[in-house]
Amino acid sequence: AKAKAADIQKIVENFLISGEVETSGLNYGSGHINDTYCLYNKQPHEPNYLLQRINHHVFKDVSALTDNIYLVLNYLKKKMQLLQQSDLQVLELIPAKNKMLYHKDEDGNYWRMYVFIKDSKSFDIVETEQQAEEGGRAFGQFQALLSDMNASLLSETIVDFHNILFRLDNFNKALKENKANRAANVQEEIDFILARVTQMRRIYDMGQQGLLPKRITHNDTKFNNILFNQQDKAICVIDLDTVMPGYVAYDFGDAIRTIINTAAEDEADLSKIKLNIPLFEAYTKGYLAEAGKFLTANEVKSLLLGVFLLPYMQAVRFLTDYLEGDHYFKIAYPEHNLVRTKAQLHLLKQLEEHEAELQEIISTYSIYKLK
Ligand code: ADP
Ligand code: MG
Ligand code: MG
Repeated sequence: AKAKAADIQKIVENFLISGEVETSGLNYGSGHINDTYCLYNKQPHEPNYLLQRINHHVFKDVSALTDNIYLVLNYLKKKMQLLQQSDLQVLELIPAKNKMLYHKDEDGNYWRMYVFIKDSKSFDIVETEQQAEEGGRAFGQFQALLSDMNASLLSETIVDFHNILFRLDNFNKALKENKANRAANVQEEIDFILARVTQMRRIYDMGQQGLLPKRITHNDTKFNNILFNQQDKAICVIDLDTVMPGYVAYDFGDAIRTIINTAAEDEADLSKIKLNIPLFEAYTKGYLAEAGKFLTANEVKSLLLGVFLLPYMQAVRFLTDYLEGDHYFKIAYPEHNLVRTKAQLHLLKQLEEHEAELQEIISTYSIYKLK
């Protein structure tokens, strides 16, 4: 979408920046949640900036969200100084003139600004094993640095985001109400989902039993939320809107869900949905090289459960929306949510068929030998 550069200039005046910036007014990057603009500095020695309009329809409590990001960034910075670790950079928020870390405009929009990370790029799709390994390393290091931060300091900005019991409740409600009168057409998918409830609750149940600690997790481990340099080295974990308390396996499973799938999330031709095991291995290797420093044996055991859970949870959400008549996810054609459901369940079937092999790979890179 094209915004008016003049409007953006007006917003910029509310932030404490150095130098003088200009903007094309064009959206930057390929994020789907916020509106992002790059601000180019006319003064060569001053940084460029990145301005974002925060999507407050998705994130209802911008103040709590900003507190989460602020706390996490501060902790990361201090911890990295302490460890004298400097291969990854930490995002830097620019204060607004109101002394807060965001500015609310007269239309009720919320804006924030970061220093633009120089010479960086992000990948929507993983192309090489090197990228996958670097990505695993970046998210692993992110979790490792935060592993001893008190998770209860952070607000749960989206409640029940990865809670499968909540997703299944909604699914069962939609099934019972059968508003769009579609349940009879999708009995096979319904049965498939219901047959796996016990297995898919396992991370949740382990948490309830005190077997898994709540850590600080990213919760949106899409590949384009890592910035790379020109040599394909990961340099920064970005998009911290969803940082909150969670289980490490959710981050791992969400990253793997797209990395391991040779096709798109909504591929209609199921024969194209295969597992890219070399990319899985590369990501796992990078991830465990960093996260292996703090993960407990139970957490390592939970990783593969997360790999199964995340596609399953997406399928449950897509099928719920299909049963309710498609009012949550944007659809491009009438059966889109059903096609998405089938694609995720097909991916899950493949994962189940390769369970032993995937578990073996996790074991190879972990100090804990799993069976
Ligand atoms: P969304 O929630 O919409 O995905 P992101 O915070 O991920 O928003 O930002 C969108 C895109 O902007 C990213 O994928 C990345 O390409 C780019 N980007 C975000 N933050 C920075 C930054 N500090 N420096 C450089 N590029 C960035
Ligand atoms: Mg993003
Ligand atoms: Mg985001």
